[in-house]
Amino acid sequence: MASDFQAGNTPPPEDGGPSVWLVFKGNKILVDPDNRPPRASGPGELGLELDATHYLGLWQGRPAYTARAPEEAPEPEGLAWHGLYGLFLGWPQDLFGLGARAKQILAWEQGNAFCGACGAAMDEVAEERARRCPACDYLAYPRISPAVIMAVQKDDKLLLARSPRFPAGRMSVLAGFVEAGETLEECVAREIREEVGVEVTDITYFGSQPWPFPDSLMIGFICQWAGGEIEIDGREIVEADWYGPDDLPAIPPSSTIARGLINQVLGVEKLPKGTPWNPEKHKLRAPDER
Ligand SMILES: [Zn+2]
Repeated sequence: MASDFQAGNTPPPEDGGPSVWLVFKGNKILVDPDNRPPRASGPGELGLELDATHYLGLWQGRPAYTARAPEEAPEPEGLAWHGLYGLFLGWPQDLFGLGARAKQILAWEQGNAFCGACGAAMDEVAEERARRCPACDYLAYPRISPAVIMAVQKDDKLLLARSPRFPAGRMSVLAGFVEAGETLEECVAREIREEVGVEVTDITYFGSQPWPFPDSLMIGFICQWAGGEIEIDGREIVEADWYGPDDLPAIPPSSTIARGLINQVLGVEKLPKGTPWNPEKHKLRAPDER
């Protein structure tokens, strides 16, 4: 199946038809009654005054734009401002990717209004997605922060842990940001060692997921326990243990790569070796959803 989205930097000529609008107001996005980005000829038809409009590419053959609405913007008739997190996770993967791109471009634009090197006001570069300082030529591209997310397997069990940010009872696989100069595999081993004190081996790539909260790319791995007893750091992790398929606590929803890793390791849904994870293709289901 062809992708619904084709990225681009230059809008096609105006043809009088509608465009797709990903309009953000703080941590909310404008949606139609189907919880999808609305289609409109422009901000006027949406009844909004918008800042920072950026062309994203073609969505289902129509131009797609992202823009920011002021904090006091009203709710246009028939549309609603919806919180991002739950909404994004319910969207099909292509639309999730478009939403992630839109949100990250707006955050990048806002964070690079002024040059990080000399402080002058930055200009938009026409031919690529970049901002340039007219005084010192410093270039800023949208920043992506790579993070690893990994399932540690020990026999038929899986290590799940709770970050202090999770509600009580909710557990997930471990994750952490990649540091400068580190390979992904080194990062996986270091994060696991630091957070729960165990050593791992056989670190194998699983798949990836953009994670626009605020600007990460989650890179998933499965690895095998090689030694050590669980010893939590008490700071990033407040609870951790080995779990099997029959004694799972509350875990992240099916559209997350965290859940994809859990399902794969516990055999809820095994992907053929070498098949990258894709939440659309694999229709991952929770044990309680089967
Ligand atoms: Zn500068």
